[in-house]
Amino acid sequence: MTGGLGAWARAALALTGALALAIAPAAAASSLPAGADVRAAHHGLGAEASAPLPAIERRTPQIGGKLEVGSPLVVWVGATSPSAVDVRYQWYVGGDRVPGATGKYLTPTAEHAGHRVSVRVQLAADGHETSVRWANGESVITLPSFTRKAPSIGGTLIAGTELRAWVGAVSPSGARVSYQWYVGGSKVSGATSKYYTYTADDAGQRVSLRVQLSKAGYATSVAWDTAWPCSIDDASSCCVVVNKRRPLDPTRYAPADLVHPAGVAGTATMRREAADAMSRMHAAAKAAGADFWLSSGYRSYATQSSLYAGYVSRSGRATADTFSARPGYSEHQTGWAADVTDGSGCTLKGCFGDRAAGRWVAAHGADYGFIVRYPEGEQSVTGYIYEPWHLRYVGVDIAVAMRSRGVTTLEDFFGLAPAPTY
Ligand SMILES: [Zn+2]
Repeated sequence: MTGGLGAWARAALALTGALALAIAPAAAASSLPAGADVRAAHHGLGAEASAPLPAIERRTPQIGGKLEVGSPLVVWVGATSPSAVDVRYQWYVGGDRVPGATGKYLTPTAEHAGHRVSVRVQLAADGHETSVRWANGESVITLPSFTRKAPSIGGTLIAGTELRAWVGAVSPSGARVSYQWYVGGSKVSGATSKYYTYTADDAGQRVSLRVQLSKAGYATSVAWDTAWPCSIDDASSCCVVVNKRRPLDPTRYAPADLVHPAGVAGTATMRREAADAMSRMHAAAKAAGADFWLSSGYRSYATQSSLYAGYVSRSGRATADTFSARPGYSEHQTGWAADVTDGSGCTLKGCFGDRAAGRWVAAHGADYGFIVRYPEGEQSVTGYIYEPWHLRYVGVDIAVAMRSRGVTTLEDFFGLAPAPTY
């Protein structure tokens, strides 16, 4: 028996020695020749669990799609090696696991808005180490946006004018629209309707409009528009007041958008806005049996110079100044004015005011934005004799306001000093 026991003991020692021999090279694996199979040396010795498995070759997964509520997101794993892998997904929103969201796709809901999305992507393959990597959304999930245009303020900033908010088409429909008006940058308390009446106290100050759209499930949208008072000093403004005390600035100003009023005989040009209004007015006048055409529209500084010089040589300077402007002081140089005629002997004469065309434009011109700039009996204010043929475009709001208030000169309307002489 002793011999038997001794044989078992020797066998055990031999086994221990074999194990020691087998482990020693593994501990010094870095010194093994390239290609040596360490695991083969362990085979059958129960030491395999302690060795690293090869990694699955993969890239960082990516989230594709629009990070918006209702818009499906997808996570892309990309190529792997080995290619046959078992993929497990788990979506997270705001750091919280989304129950049941274990597929390749996720469509965020309204409660996900404002949070970041991420996906845990686990890959497994036989004989390889299980791999976990995260795909992270680049920004938070948002609510879908309205499709809209910028709002705009309709109307001219003159006292007593009702301004109107234009919102335009909005998609989707059914949005709640909120308005807030501001004057001079300050919120006007209670001014929250689509309309706002510009007051005398507001004069000279800009008006801003804030339009907010809201609807459940959509991002609230805020947009602004701002309107400035029409400038009586800016040569390019349709409100500019030019007279013998108020030359154009610069004196050789020339507008850029001169066109001939379509449908009107003659070759004269005007600023595009005035020309369009002139075309509409002419069509209405002609239909009413009060046809006319333009004998003059825009005149450059140079043209006005020679015109005025001709009048001076014919009539003398004092007389010429009563009906012709010096260069740099003419409304014709703004592109907002035109002289109309019906071809009768009253052309450029006071009796034009009694002609059908003269009566018609005096009565209806305001509806198209025109005034008779030099009315009868106002030479001490305007500096010019009665010129029923000289029409000035100031825009419908101002022209209609003048007519309804019975104010006949721009000087009076804007509270400016009379300009009888230079
Ligand atoms: Zn004129």
